[in-house]
Amino acid sequence: MTTRELVTDVTYLVASVLFILGLRSLTKPQTARRGMQLAALGMLAAICGTLVHHEIVSYGWVCVGLGVGTLIGWPLGTRVAMTAMPQRIAISHMFGALAATLVGVAEYYSHQLEGHALDRSVMGAVGFEVLFGALTVSGSFIAFAKLQELLPGRPLTFAGQNVLNLTLFAGALGLFVYLVVNPGAEWAFYSLVGLAFTIGLSMVLPIGGADMPVVVSLLNSYAGLAASATGFAIDNNVLIICGALDGASGFLLSILMSRAMNRSFANVLFGAFGSPPAAAGPSGPVREMRAISAEDAAATLAFARRVVVVPGYGLAVAQAQQLAREMADQIEKRGGDVKYAIHPVAGRMPGHMNVLLAEANVDYEKMVEMEEINEQFGSVDVAIVIGANDVVNPAAKRDPKSPIFGMPILDVDQARQVFVLKRGKGAGFAGIDNDLFFDEKTSLIFGDAKASLQQLVSEMKAL
Ligand code: NAP
Repeated sequence: MTTRELVTDVTYLVASVLFILGLRSLTKPQTARRGMQLAALGMLAAICGTLVHHEIVSYGWVCVGLGVGTLIGWPLGTRVAMTAMPQRIAISHMFGALAATLVGVAEYYSHQLEGHALDRSVMGAVGFEVLFGALTVSGSFIAFAKLQELLPGRPLTFAGQNVLNLTLFAGALGLFVYLVVNPGAEWAFYSLVGLAFTIGLSMVLPIGGADMPVVVSLLNSYAGLAASATGFAIDNNVLIICGALDGASGFLLSILMSRAMNRSFANVLFGAFGSPPAAAGPSGPVREMRAISAEDAAATLAFARRVVVVPGYGLAVAQAQQLAREMADQIEKRGGDVKYAIHPVAGRMPGHMNVLLAEANVDYEKMVEMEEINEQFGSVDVAIVIGANDVVNPAAKRDPKSPIFGMPILDVDQARQVFVLKRGKGAGFAGIDNDLFFDEKTSLIFGDAKASLQQLVSEMKAL
């Protein structure tokens, strides 16, 4: 082993350990920032280890790549708003998968050019890489376009779409097997790449925009598997390790998200959830939500002993996290106790509420997970729901016909009094009514959450 190879191997080992420690730290909000720093350091080590690799032909091209990557990555990291994070992540997966696919195509092309086809085992790795890589590129791009509203967010469905998808996938598998047996068949290789791109499109187009976070994390897992296969194809250990970590963590995250929404994978991928709700028929008496003025709500809140803030997607839309914290400060100043209830899928991505509240410097100890806070709601004076809807909908417990039946929710209806901040009568992500808003202990403060909180805080300061 040459000194260069030793340096590369050692830095790859250090990078892999840093990735594992980084992932471990990401499991808790308190250590998540350090986790990102460790992972970034790991990536730096992996890049440095690769730069001393003896097979590098031209440092000039490597510098061009680094320059282009920095130009794209810098604004993605610094300019994108938190609410746009799901589409930001989708586009980074697209770039990662594009890199894996291009490496696979280059590996195949260069061997063909030299006149000797790939070994069967390497062909298996390269075939796997371009199959999962190319479908992740097009799938992630559609996910990005839906979340960014460049494409309609509703599921774009047509008769026989599941049959078409299965046929395309079976065709791709057939080509893959054919290639492993006949690695020199160029037509089969390039058809596989083209078919995989088409599968990505046809798989993600029928899924509703609101289900995209689960799809994005599943595609993340595919991109990881493609990267791992790249590692096998080009004999690169750090790619094998970090691709496998990425593949496994993306898959676990998709499962956890689906479970927290009480949905199965099949339902997310083939269920066209998130379609506009069917027009309501002439059913039941018309119910009214009871509004309360910010002045009256402020008087109750200011002197409440135990208050729980329940943040949801609307808080993120309104960017009202700082004001939520100011409101809590006002309550605490008068001796009240404030906690924040964190539902695992509140908002539009896992950890959305933790990140928002951390931005407003809320103490981690005050952010209480669902299971723990649910035991306490019975003794809470006021629960103040800020832009949350589905995650506090009692239909999940009471109505077996509800699409969210079985989804774990925050038991806000157990609190003595409930205030809800929302703009109007808009439904949540699931597009269904919420009985909590019509409950006799619930009062609504209508308006954009930021404006309502601003009013509440001013009223409390004036008391
Ligand atoms: P939600 O059910 O989407 O409800 C958000 C509520 O916020 C709406 O009722 C809306 O009512 C209100 N709102 C919107 N903008 C507002 C503003 N500027 N000011 C005040 N209110 C505003 O949100 P959630 O309770 O957080 O539930 C999240 C949902 O997303 C769940 O169904 C979950 O399954 C799903 N989901 C989550 C993830 C994840 O990883 N977190 C991933 C995929 C899907 P108005 O229009 O009347 O204001």
